[in-house]
Formats: sequence, structure tokens, C-alpha cells
Amino acid sequence: MNVLLKDTPRPVPDIPAYSPSGNECALFETAWTRQLPLLLKGPTGCGKTRFVSHMAARLGLPLSTVSCHDDLSAADLTGRYLLKGGDTVWVDGPLTRTVRQGGVCYLDEIVEARKDVAVVLHPLTDDRRILPLERTGEVLEAPSGFMLVVSYNPGYQNLLKALKPSTRQRFVAIEFDFLPKPQEIAVVATESGLDEAQVAPLVALAHRLRALKGHDLEEGVSTRLLVYCACLIDSGMTMREAVRAAMIEPLTDEPDVRAALLEIADAMI
Ligand code: ADP
Repeated sequence: MNVLLKDTPRPVPDIPAYSPSGNECALFETAWTRQLPLLLKGPTGCGKTRFVSHMAARLGLPLSTVSCHDDLSAADLTGRYLLKGGDTVWVDGPLTRTVRQGGVCYLDEIVEARKDVAVVLHPLTDDRRILPLERTGEVLEAPSGFMLVVSYNPGYQNLLKALKPSTRQRFVAIEFDFLPKPQEIAVVATESGLDEAQVAPLVALAHRLRALKGHDLEEGVSTRLLVYCACLIDSGMTMREAVRAAMIEPLTDEPDVRAALLEIADAMI
């Protein structure tokens, strides 16, 4: 009986694939063990969100993700009183829910959120680890199973939207960037199903276009767009159509810049 049990394959938990570029997995795990909050910096579409979902699944933790925007206020995270069938009831926001239940709360693009969000995060991200809920009068103590992870893209920042040092210095931080060419080729091939030989020229073009960032372009081609492009090709679109739709059009609305990018693409693929 024991032998049979031993030979029965254990169900493998569904862990989103993630190809690490350094020691970020060990850092996440250590931060989790020591109850330290984590800040992920890097351009859009370089793997930050995938990294968080990979690590949460690996550690068996529930994950609550909030995409921050310029209208997102502290109450959207903590909760508010709502009218339900004539009664006023308190409804927890995603941050409060995760503090109560444990798990990872991931606030994506934190600099986009309103300024009052920092007030809520500060007591949670020092050794107090508390979440005061002014409206209910509660002060929640974060359990050992709670972890706060935030991300932002330093490239997008202007002076008004910079993350304040008083907030930034409450986090252990990891810098992300696009993967080295061979690794990015492997990731895009795995994600899209297209073979590596066909992915290689797309990644070479992406690297060329990334070099234009700051000149004609605000942002370069992300790994996300590369995956989209490879998916279009894998589904039968021509390389030129896919490159235009997934790697050129999303980057610019300027006709002159678009024409210049298309010229570079035509010369390379
Ligand atoms: P970000 O959160 O930085 O904007 P994402 O995590 O959403 O970016 O990444 C976009 C996509 O790129 C992912 O869905 C995945 O397909 C792919 N990707 C990027 N980096 C990696 C990586 N290191 N390992 C696996 N997939 C990756």
C-alpha cells in the first residue's frame, strides 16, 4: 500500500512560468520569511507581475493584485461603508482583506495612486505592521502570513509622480530590466509557441528599437509586446503584419516616427 502511495504522482500546483534574471527569487523568499515589504522597479512588460504571481504560487500564498490608477484612493484599498438593502455595511477593500486573511497584496504602478495611499501604507511597512481603519475604529495587526509588494516604472516618472523617499525607503527593492537576448528569445518562444529561430529576429528588432528610447520613443518594445507579436505569427500572420501590429503601432502615434520604425523593421526582418 505504501509503495503504491509513493508511486502515485502528487498533483503539481499550477505555478506560472518565470525565468529569473538574478537572485530575485531568493530575495523574495527571504523578504517573505523576514516579513519585509518589497518594491519592484522596472519598465512596463518586463516580467514584474509574472514574477509576483510565480513567487506567490511557489510559496502557496493567495495573491491579491491591484492595478493602481490616478483615481485610486486609500478607501479603494482599505474599504468603505456601502448601502445594502437599506443597511449600511462595511466592505473590506483588497488590502484590508489580505491583511485579515494573510497572503500577498501586490500594488502595481503604485506612483499612479492618490497621495493618501502613502498614509495607509506607512504604518504597514515599518516594524508596527498595522493597518488603522479610521472609519471602523479598528487597528489591524498584519499577521506573519501577510506581505506587501509594490511596483513602479521609474521611466514614467515626472516630478509630481515620483515615489517619495519617505515611502521608497520602507521597502527592500529589486530592479528589473529586459532579459538578455538568448533568455528573452527562450521566454518569448515558450510563451507563444513559436520556435526560437523565428523569435530571434523579433528580439533583435526589439533590442534595436529599445535603443531609441528617450530619443523618438517614450518606451521601448516590452517582452509583453514581443510575446503578442510571436503569438500573431504563430497563428499564421505574416512577420511584417505582426511586427506592425504588435511592435510598432503600440509604440507611437506620430506618423513620422512610425514610418522610421517600419523602415528599421523592414531592414531587419
Ligand atoms: P510587468 O508587470 O513588468 O508590466 P508582466 O509580468 O506582465 O510585466 O510581463 C509581461 C509578459 O512578459 C508576461 O505575461 C510573460 O508572458 C512575459 N515575461 C516577461 N518576463 C518574463 C520572465 N522573466 N519569465 C517568463 N515570462 C516573462
